[in-house]
Amino acid sequence: MNALAKDLNTLISSNRVRTDPEDLFAYSNDATFYFKKSMPDAVVLPESSEEVAHILKYAFHREIPVTPRGAGSGLSGGCTPVHGGIVIDMKRMRRVLELDRSNMTSEVEAGVVLSNFHRTVEKMGLFYPPDPQSMSVCTIGGNVATRAGGPRGVKYGTTERYVLGLEAVLSDGSIIKCGSKSVKNSAGYDITHLMTGSEGTLGVITKATLRLLSLPAARKTMVVICETTDQAAAIISEIIARGMVPAVLEFLQRGAVGLMNYYISPPLVADAEAYLLLQVDGTAAQVEAESAGIKDFCLQMKVRDVRIIEDEREAGSYWEARSALHPLIMRVFKRIITEDVSVPRNLLPEMVGSLTELSAALGINIGFSGHAGDGNVHPSILFAEVSPEMEEKAKAAVDLIIKKAIDLGGTISGEHGIGIHKSEYLPWQLGDVQIDLMKRIKNSFDPKNIMNPGKIWPEGDELRQ
Ligand SMILES: Cc1cc2nc3c(=O)[nH]c(=O)nc-3n(C[C@H](O)[C@H](O)[C@H](O)COP(=O)(O)OP(=O)(O)OC[C@H]3O[C@@H](n4cnc5c(N)ncnc54)[C@H](O)[C@@H]3O)c2cc1C
Repeated sequence: MNALAKDLNTLISSNRVRTDPEDLFAYSNDATFYFKKSMPDAVVLPESSEEVAHILKYAFHREIPVTPRGAGSGLSGGCTPVHGGIVIDMKRMRRVLELDRSNMTSEVEAGVVLSNFHRTVEKMGLFYPPDPQSMSVCTIGGNVATRAGGPRGVKYGTTERYVLGLEAVLSDGSIIKCGSKSVKNSAGYDITHLMTGSEGTLGVITKATLRLLSLPAARKTMVVICETTDQAAAIISEIIARGMVPAVLEFLQRGAVGLMNYYISPPLVADAEAYLLLQVDGTAAQVEAESAGIKDFCLQMKVRDVRIIEDEREAGSYWEARSALHPLIMRVFKRIITEDVSVPRNLLPEMVGSLTELSAALGINIGFSGHAGDGNVHPSILFAEVSPEMEEKAKAAVDLIIKKAIDLGGTISGEHGIGIHKSEYLPWQLGDVQIDLMKRIKNSFDPKNIMNPGKIWPEGDELRQ
């Protein structure tokens, strides 16, 4: 047993310390598994905030890098331990500590799996809207740390909107509680929302106090089969401009529907160029009126077909298929690089048009399904084979996609975060002054730079002072 393992065994029960190479390998990357792997020196699985604090205090004194990890489902390399050190796997902290119906809040530990939380609150007629499509595995801590979103973002916003308070352990082992159950809070700087989206670089989030809503009484799923991609993009912009607010408004290309048909029952006709998958929710009367309004409008736009799915099992098969889309694509292609740009919603047709042109100009396959109702597209560069030539073209495509999104006044990441893979692009969007400001903030939270080093800005460029 090495010295680090011996020390960690004194801080946390030895059956929750991992140092075997095969265990460490499982923590060497996230869902972007085809990029460079980095092995940690040890993995710990704490069961309480105090255990997290002991580990951080130890790491702080010895200047050992620490990488917090939820489920490792991230798509930016965020929990890859690029400098080795200790990975803190939060999955053992998985208790829902409180469900407060009178305040419509819940306090959870960071390792609670999102879909378990959905089920728990929904049994009580409550609703927690954030719905990243990795919900069957991803953790609330990972969602908070990346400001994760999902299809319901168009109506309900993303994770940060639901975070009222946090408990976090800072790099020196001190435990802070920021925010509260109160729906209003003007007490000093908003540390809660600074930690939210900080990708493990400011501390380890151990608990979150979350805002809940009432579960909508009714929901309806709709599918719009469009003649062209441009038509689908124009409909999305127009739905938003007319003030219609579906709970979900997803854009899908033909290839995506072809794969999703493994789940959709009965399968959808898969020869149209583009599809919209919608859900409307609210009272039964609202759902009737909104679905009828959207249907009329789409027919006026001369789409090929609009279907309101009345059968609940059939509707469920569409959403199951949507959640499975990314893994389905991964089974077909040798590699996928998924981007996460988001643009003002009225410029979505321009963004989508430029993706089509780019794909043709570079001679590569770019799929681009996404949560288009909130302007977030996920252009995916699909590799039939991995070769130096393809890697070069993919890099050129990513550069151009990111540049276009910034030129349109959008962002390089709508929901996945920056991690390693987008760090070189952050200065393009924010410029040096803001990046330096972020680095100074990090330095005051984490003066020894032990918290998830090597993320958000390029390596070797930690703090310009
Ligand atoms: C099939 C698939 C579909 C996806 N769909 C979506 C989607 O619709 N929307 C979306 O937003 N994302 C999506 N993602 C990306 C990913 O699931 C989300 O980013 C999710 O929030 C990551 O949660 P996690 O628990 O897996 O975090 P991890 O991947 O383990 O970590 C992500 C980042 O958060 C940090 N972190 C994790 N836990 C903590 C903690 N307790 N304290 C401090 N920092 C922490 C890590 O250091 C890392 O930087 C998808 C991924 C896959 C594989």
